[in-house]
Amino acid sequence: MQTIKAAVCHEFGKPLVIEDIRLRAPEMGEIEVTLDAVAICHSDISYAEGAWGGTLPAVYGHEAAGRVTGVGAGVNGLSEGDPVVVTLIRACGACPSCGGGRPTGCETAYDGDRGPITTADGGVLHQAMACGAFAEKVVVHHSQVVKMPGEMAMDAACLLACGVITGIGAVVNAANLRAGQDVVVIGAGGVGLNAIQGARIAGARRIVAVDMSEAKLDDARAFGATDGVLATEAKPWRAAKKAMGRGADAVFVTVGA
Ligand SMILES: [Zn+2]
Ligand SMILES: [Zn+2]
Repeated sequence: MQTIKAAVCHEFGKPLVIEDIRLRAPEMGEIEVTLDAVAICHSDISYAEGAWGGTLPAVYGHEAAGRVTGVGAGVNGLSEGDPVVVTLIRACGACPSCGGGRPTGCETAYDGDRGPITTADGGVLHQAMACGAFAEKVVVHHSQVVKMPGEMAMDAACLLACGVITGIGAVVNAANLRAGQDVVVIGAGGVGLNAIQGARIAGARRIVAVDMSEAKLDDARAFGATDGVLATEAKPWRAAKKAMGRGADAVFVTVGA
C-alpha cells in the first residue's frame, strides 16, 4: 500500500479536491502505471457534475499515458519502464463477447468500489471507469494497457485512450468503411476529427465535414476531410451531396461529443 495524490470528487458539481489517497500494489493480472499525462474527457465532466450518478467519493479520469512501474502475477509482454496508454476498456478475455472478438462489449462487471484505491483513512473510494486516472498512479487490469513506441509524446498519446479510438473505431469497426466509400461527419470536435482521420486511414474517397464554425472546418481539413460544409447554410445537405456526387455510404453524428 502506498500513498499518492489524486483529484477526488466528494460532491457532484463542486471542484475536485487534490488530496492523498491509498493505492494497493498490483495483484494477479494487474499493472501499476505512473502517469505522465491524462486528458479531460467530457464524460469526466459529466460524471463530476452528477449527470450519471455513481458512488462518491470518486476519482475520475480515463484517458492516460505513463510508464509501467509494477507488474502483477500472470501478466506477460509488459515490463517496468514500458511507456503505455491506459484506457477504460477492460476486457476479461473469457466472456462470450470477449471470446467473440468484441472486447469493448465485455460482459464481466467491474465493481469500482472494491478496486485498488481507498481514501487516506482506508474508506471506500470509487475507481471510476475502472481507471481513476486523475491521480499520480493507477493500478488497472492488464487488458487496459497498450504498450506504445517510446518516442510518442505522453500528452498526445493519452488521447488515444478514448477520443481517438471512439472516432476511428466508429469508422473502422462499427461502419466497416471500405476504401473508395464516401462519408459525412457531422460535428468536427474531438471525436469527429478522429472519425475523419479514421475515414482517411480507411481509404475513403470523399470525406465531408459539417460544422457550425469555419475554424472547425479548417481543423477538419487538416485531419483529412476533403470538403467542408457550414451547417449554418440554408440547406447544408445539398452542399454535402454535391461534394460527393452521390449519397454517403456512412454518416457519423459526432455532435456534442
Ligand atoms: Zn472519454
Ligand atoms: Zn469479457
